[in-house]
Amino acid sequence: MTIDIEKSSGRVTSSVDETTVKNLSSEDEKVSKIHSRKRKKKRIRKSAGKLDVSVKSKSSFDALKEVKVSQKALFKRTADYSKNPEILDLCNFIEKSPTAWHAVANMKKEYIEAGFKELVLTEIEWNVDFGGKYFVTQNGSTFLAFVLPTEKPKSFSVIGAHTDSPALRTKPSPEKTSSGVNLLCPEYYGGPILPTWFDRDLGLAGRVKYIDNDGKSKCYIYNSERAVAFLSTAPIHMKREQLTKLEINEQKNLPVITTLTGTHDRPFIEVLLSEKIDFKKIIGTELFLYPVQEPRIINGQFLSSWRLDNLLGTHAGYRGLLLNAEPEENRAKIFISWDNEEVGSNTAQGAASMLLEEVMSRVCLQLKMSYSELSAAKNSSGLISVDSSHAEHPNYKELYEPDNTAYMGDGPVIKVNAQQHYATDAISQGWIHEVALKKGIPVKEFCARTDGRCGSTIGSIVASKLGIRGVDIGVAQLAMHSSREHFALVDHLSMMVLLRGLYSHPFDVEYD
Ligand SMILES: [Zn+2]
Repeated sequence: MTIDIEKSSGRVTSSVDETTVKNLSSEDEKVSKIHSRKRKKKRIRKSAGKLDVSVKSKSSFDALKEVKVSQKALFKRTADYSKNPEILDLCNFIEKSPTAWHAVANMKKEYIEAGFKELVLTEIEWNVDFGGKYFVTQNGSTFLAFVLPTEKPKSFSVIGAHTDSPALRTKPSPEKTSSGVNLLCPEYYGGPILPTWFDRDLGLAGRVKYIDNDGKSKCYIYNSERAVAFLSTAPIHMKREQLTKLEINEQKNLPVITTLTGTHDRPFIEVLLSEKIDFKKIIGTELFLYPVQEPRIINGQFLSSWRLDNLLGTHAGYRGLLLNAEPEENRAKIFISWDNEEVGSNTAQGAASMLLEEVMSRVCLQLKMSYSELSAAKNSSGLISVDSSHAEHPNYKELYEPDNTAYMGDGPVIKVNAQQHYATDAISQGWIHEVALKKGIPVKEFCARTDGRCGSTIGSIVASKLGIRGVDIGVAQLAMHSSREHFALVDHLSMMVLLRGLYSHPFDVEYD
């Protein structure tokens, strides 16, 4: 297997790297070994006269338990993954993607390198063809890519994630001075764990609209690429309770410190931007503060980083489609990562927008499909919403539903909620189990305590909007929405194999 190494980053490009290839390609080997072992066991049972019904009739749970018991997992739970190229690629992607705009720009670059053609939403003509691979972006912060089948699509396999994360965002007029220092005043975006933003080195990144020196109005995706601010806790001797409790007034206590007063004679943000662009006037800003500490692998087993929710799902999904870019016969494969999930998805580029449906309709129109053909295809489709899940925390076990909890390192999690905060139902849950079984990947159900609450994600929003069946899965992590989150590396590799499997195993919509 040839391996393409990108000189600049030294990272593996579109083809899969040696170890993962070894892993992934030995996957089938292992699975066939499993099946031969099963066949042998059946023969033994048969010969022992205790005829057992075929595996098919066993529920997928029993079969999965059997797999768990009898089969060595595809990835060794306790192995050292610090040199695994997909993990190093994930770290690189997170570090280079402080905002949704940066994440989309990075995916765009990779998809163009992999031969995907860009389609522009504002253009009337879209030249798409059977077997072709394309992508569109919206607002520069939502990314959608798809591979068309060689015949009219009879169904769509959709993997969905989101590009945004909770953070601090500067106010329209953020600059003020106090106590001898210059400050930037933020609001918070989504639900960040605010205490974790204190005493961290913070960078600034986002989008600005400006007038250049020729009077032209332009847009720029900015990244300070270094720490430019910090937020300090109050003095412990004057606030003893801080030993265990950090009380925060969001209006008063969140302004971050940048420079000493008198350092510059123009707004600090203008000083920063002038390092990157020439401008006459800044006329619009969406700037996020972000922790500059790079992702760190701990003991070869865990990753500590910001933005695991949900660059983990985005990375597994976009790599999943890149590694599965061969056209199917009559099933279209779609990967989409929406912006604004953390603030409810109700934006033009959010999961509650028309984007996915619009692209499906425009493509089917181009392929001369009738409305009924599109409708039938949609109703035969499956949506896999990939977003982080909560791993059981050893120091807070009482917060979890004891019988429906997931540990780090135990494989992808199927998220279930009776209130439909998750899109998972028995059919889609079964689908995950069946593909996991085939791929030799352990999976586990999670639901919240009945007296507790669970989060929500794009699954139910998109499933209801398009009328396609969905399932919510994710990697079990700790410290979700903190400026430093944690998860077990092996689960990301398992998720990547599972998503590849889901792209190659169509959704069985039969209800009975
Ligand atoms: Zn999320």
